[in-house]
Amino acid sequence: MQRVPLVLGNWKMNGSVQANEALLQGLLGSLSPQADAAIKQGDLQAGVAVPAPYLFQAATRLRSSGLLWGAQDCSNEIAGAFTGEISADMLKDFDCQFALVGHSERRERAAESSDLVGRKLGQLLNNGLMPVVCVGEPLSEREQGSAEDFVVEQVRAATKGLDEQQLAALVIAYEPIWAIGTGRSASSSDAQAMHATIRHELSQQSQSAAQAVRILYGGSVKAATAAELFAQPDIDGALVGGASLDATEFANIIQSACPASQSLH
Ligand code: PEP
Repeated sequence: MQRVPLVLGNWKMNGSVQANEALLQGLLGSLSPQADAAIKQGDLQAGVAVPAPYLFQAATRLRSSGLLWGAQDCSNEIAGAFTGEISADMLKDFDCQFALVGHSERRERAAESSDLVGRKLGQLLNNGLMPVVCVGEPLSEREQGSAEDFVVEQVRAATKGLDEQQLAALVIAYEPIWAIGTGRSASSSDAQAMHATIRHELSQQSQSAAQAVRILYGGSVKAATAAELFAQPDIDGALVGGASLDATEFANIIQSACPASQSLH
């Protein structure tokens, strides 16, 4: 099945109004005509997950570009007395198209469980937003040979109770924790093996949804390594942290995901 490649940047807690202006203009100016055309034709999707205070700025700058903008998290609650939380409905108010949930930095620092991630994901689906569900194992699990079991359990817990249509609307980002921000990417073959495992797990719930779900790789993706990753049959794009803060580097990663730049999946 042909899935539309997707490349998302995760700015994390970086940026300022002024710096974002330069980064967004730089990104728009660095996209190749080929990538720009592919995005506008719907053959390629790319975008940025920005800190919530900058969603209005991202919406203003990106609205006519075809690029997507989204948030890095979303509340599991609908509305009310939840100080500091941001609801899916609010994200929709800023015309976000997606939000990350379950990033390992939130699972670790804010002790988010897979059950909570599943409830956040549900809020996004209820509001017509695309959830990008992050999963990935710590180094200890990889070294013990239990990385696949660990990730499958995260996928299972986050997708519990979803119907076929909801499942097909998900994006999953496989981000081994030991590869995030370390400069040490998973090899393309190790990443492919895990992506195939994730797709197989999804197929236990629905064969057709498993074929539709896009599975992104994340963890020290650079322009130099992107093409090899994107050539793998189950790697449908990337979630990019550090390298998305450099407009040229990020545009080059997007270029590598252009359908004409890679062998067809
Ligand atoms: C991330 O935080 O989602 C990420 C993949 O970061 P980096 O690309 O910097 O490893």
